[in-house]
Amino acid sequence: MTLEELDKKYVLHTYARDYTNFVKGVGATLYDENGRDYIDFGAGIAVNSVGHNHPRLVEAICNQAKNIIHISNLQVIEPQAKLAQKMVQLSGYDMGVFFANSGAEANEGAIKIARKYGETKFENKRYKVITLEHSFHGRTITTVKATGQESFHTPNFSPYPEGFSYEKSIEDVYRAIDDETVAVLIELVQGEGGVQPFEKEEIQQLAAHLKEKGILLIVDEVQTGVYRTGEFLASNLYEIEPDIITLAKGLGGGVPIGAVMTRHKELLVPGDHGSTFGGNYLSTAAGLAVLEILEEYYESGAVAEALLYFEGKLQDIAARYPSLFEKEVGIGLMRGLRAKSAEIQAATIKSAMKEGLVILKAGRNTVRFLPSITITKAEIDEGFKRLESTLEKVSSN
Ligand SMILES: *Cc1c(COP(=O)(O)O)cnc(C)c1O
Repeated sequence: MTLEELDKKYVLHTYARDYTNFVKGVGATLYDENGRDYIDFGAGIAVNSVGHNHPRLVEAICNQAKNIIHISNLQVIEPQAKLAQKMVQLSGYDMGVFFANSGAEANEGAIKIARKYGETKFENKRYKVITLEHSFHGRTITTVKATGQESFHTPNFSPYPEGFSYEKSIEDVYRAIDDETVAVLIELVQGEGGVQPFEKEEIQQLAAHLKEKGILLIVDEVQTGVYRTGEFLASNLYEIEPDIITLAKGLGGGVPIGAVMTRHKELLVPGDHGSTFGGNYLSTAAGLAVLEILEEYYESGAVAEALLYFEGKLQDIAARYPSLFEKEVGIGLMRGLRAKSAEIQAATIKSAMKEGLVILKAGRNTVRFLPSITITKAEIDEGFKRLESTLEKVSSN
């Protein structure tokens, strides 16, 4: 059986899969089984934040595996405590951290915190969570319901939990608030929805309004966190102080980890929430190595340089292929080209693969770029060379 046959026979078909068999990665370069190289502008959907095979991350994982991989959360876990400290320090917020295993699970934790807040802090029960259209918050029954895309709420998986509603814009959120609203859950840059950043002033005003009303602001930083937007958190870039922040994707550099940070540190008590794997030795040792690498990188000015360089290249491409793309969108190393049609989007991603370039889709018509934060200028140059030959082919078809 070929690998494709094996996969099709035994793995459930929940993804529209490409069958290139990658066997190795170094930095932002991937190699398939035939030794062919690809520039990785997707980073495993914003996960490989320090690239593939970063020696310091590999060493941290190997060293940790040789000692202890896992002991339950009934014991104290040294790298977990250290990672929490690092996250709080880098964020600049006075918060505590709960560790989970994924973005959806982190958002579940955030919603539980909000629900308990709404149950215990007011005279009436407050339980409603407002999210935005085109958002994405995960695939569990609750987080899929929190996701503001009707196509996700098929009757196939109903009934869904109550208490979620979606608004078209930040403007509409104000009108939607009632005395049962406990929280507003937003991405500052919508990722899956199409790489769509919100205006800073708009977000700052909303944050101030929610604070005044005693409504929690939950920022889903599963994709925007860990330097993706140029700062440790997008919340830092937007200069707001959320009540709850969720993280996952880039935090473990590829090792599964999720986290909820909140300034309501006393709200959850033993028995309220938990996770068997969450915050175990392996994932938190990896997370700690990732943050140490990226903190140094950020302090050296390399993050700011990489994102300026990438942005310049992408703007140039957008300007040179007006027949294919409306505009360039995004912030930091979370970028997109808004294609003129879904066909152009699909053709670009497919032909890029043939040219040795991994790029992603987002929303209905966005070609998405989420390179590792540590990507080098040489890798960016090579990737854009391949993007250009891709677009030459797409536009001549
Ligand atoms: C990817 C993503 C999630 C879901 O994360 P999983 O690890 O796949 O559960 C949630 N929110 C946002 C903003 C995401 O980009």
